[in-house]
Amino acid sequence: MKKFHKSLKFQIYQCGVCHEAWPLKTKPKNIVSYTCSRCLRGKNIPKKFSTENSMMPSPVPKELQGLTQFEEMLIARAFPVMHVYTKPRGGQRAYKGHVITLPQDVQQLADILPRCPKDLPVIIFTINGKDNSSSDFVVRHKKVEDALNWLTGEKEFGEPNNPLYKNVKIIRQTLANSPEHGVLSDVTRVECGDSTTENEDVGIDTGPVNFEDDEKVYNSQTEMGSFVPTNVDTKREEEISEEFLNAPQQYNWNIGDEPLNEFNCQFLASMAFPTLFPDGKGDLTNSAVLSDTSNNTTQSFAAKLKHLIKFSEKIDGKWVYRFASHPRFAYWAYNILYRRRILAQGNFFLKQNPSEANLTIDDLKEMLHSQSYDSLMSKLMHYAKNVSGTNAYWNRAKDDLKAIITQVGAPTIFWTLSCAEFHWPEFHNLFSDNGDTSDSERRANVINNPHLLDWFFTERTEQFVNYWLKKTLGATWYWFRYEYAVQRGSIHCHGVAKLQSDPNLCDLSQIALQGYLAAQSLAKDQLSHEMSLQKQQEVKEGCEAEKAICDYVDFLMSTQNPCNADDWLKPQVLKFL
Ligand SMILES: [Zn+2]
Repeated sequence: MKKFHKSLKFQIYQCGVCHEAWPLKTKPKNIVSYTCSRCLRGKNIPKKFSTENSMMPSPVPKELQGLTQFEEMLIARAFPVMHVYTKPRGGQRAYKGHVITLPQDVQQLADILPRCPKDLPVIIFTINGKDNSSSDFVVRHKKVEDALNWLTGEKEFGEPNNPLYKNVKIIRQTLANSPEHGVLSDVTRVECGDSTTENEDVGIDTGPVNFEDDEKVYNSQTEMGSFVPTNVDTKREEEISEEFLNAPQQYNWNIGDEPLNEFNCQFLASMAFPTLFPDGKGDLTNSAVLSDTSNNTTQSFAAKLKHLIKFSEKIDGKWVYRFASHPRFAYWAYNILYRRRILAQGNFFLKQNPSEANLTIDDLKEMLHSQSYDSLMSKLMHYAKNVSGTNAYWNRAKDDLKAIITQVGAPTIFWTLSCAEFHWPEFHNLFSDNGDTSDSERRANVINNPHLLDWFFTERTEQFVNYWLKKTLGATWYWFRYEYAVQRGSIHCHGVAKLQSDPNLCDLSQIALQGYLAAQSLAKDQLSHEMSLQKQQEVKEGCEAEKAICDYVDFLMSTQNPCNADDWLKPQVLKFL
């Protein structure tokens, strides 16, 4: 137990080259000018993730600090359309569906700002008629004006503060119409009853949320944010394909190694998230850098995204992860990456299946109405399994596990680990030296550092496997995978393991079942003397097997919780036999 907890002691150190700050187990030799191992190894000049290679986002000027999500949307030149909502339970963010940065949206970059509130493709959901008063929706006239003045302003020698905003016109009238401090009145609102509680994933991963009364870290009555695009495509895949094929305009199909069009807009991230990239530096959608991180643009995008997520600044003695804590950025970027990977697989498919590449639009139209559509789709699915998170990917994982079980036999236990994010001292110690954190600090740690929480969970799981499954219980093999709970958005893990002490539960269960059937047969059937002797023997062996199973399970269990999560009690400690 001590070793297990000791293995989870980390401290955050920041690399002087890439400015990434990440937990380390051992103290680096040189703390003052610490350089991470990747930056030390890198031979490129300038280093891939360095200021010299324009990979470092500039500090946020005070004019762009503390803007709400709506304020940032009003001053953004590009508009990523997406659906991010705050999970009612726990308060972590999640995203649903796909992020849409439609090509036409990207090409029509706003030259006139701020945007009119009615043009914001956002719907605010109100639940049960309660006002959705999330602080994300608040707009302050002065803040928007100062931010726009800075973005379009110039430095001392006439150089623009942000080259991307150089020619943007500020419409003072729109600005004057925005509230001094309040929620925009022209934004579409939708009353949605309590649909969010309807599909709540009850009974999984809810954890001891009401452990003590003062541990209520999240107030679901007042805190609820959501951004939903107005032009959501709710059509089915076939309808979309059909519409697309019937559209009169010509599409410029450019099938190369990498997907084109919407992914090629330079500085898209800076125009969509001006508060994260105040002058365009560090933008992962900018491909003009001296030392590229990879010669494959999808991999390069992934590496830059990882770098930004780990990028940190120490503000008032606390590590602040500007990109990881932004409510929309990571979802937007991750979704682009996911679709890039899928498209790259699609292009790979066309190379491997050149006959499909020469299909005309008419061929595709015909396929859509015939059976061959399914066959094309199933061929495409074959390639999708290389992209993690797709259904095809999980099907392959399932097949792999089945193959293991066929080879080495059935596992002894099935285990689930869930995230007690508010309770782990080792996690909260990353952010405070004295180990004393209040409820609101712990809540902030969880919400602002989803990347560190997921990392910590995987680290804890690996130590659990090492210290408990392997060293304590003597697992001979194990398998596990990480998942995200649908409602709560938090990470959890399922696994199976075969224990050395397994008395062969599968065979014992068979014998116990046979004994049960023999007992029934003895009670009901007319049996010969010989037959009933045999059945009595089976009953005896069945009882022994049953006892062996029960004894083994009792030996494995140390505690049990007879209540469901809603009326949580301290688990009962079981006596060892
Ligand atoms: Zn580094």
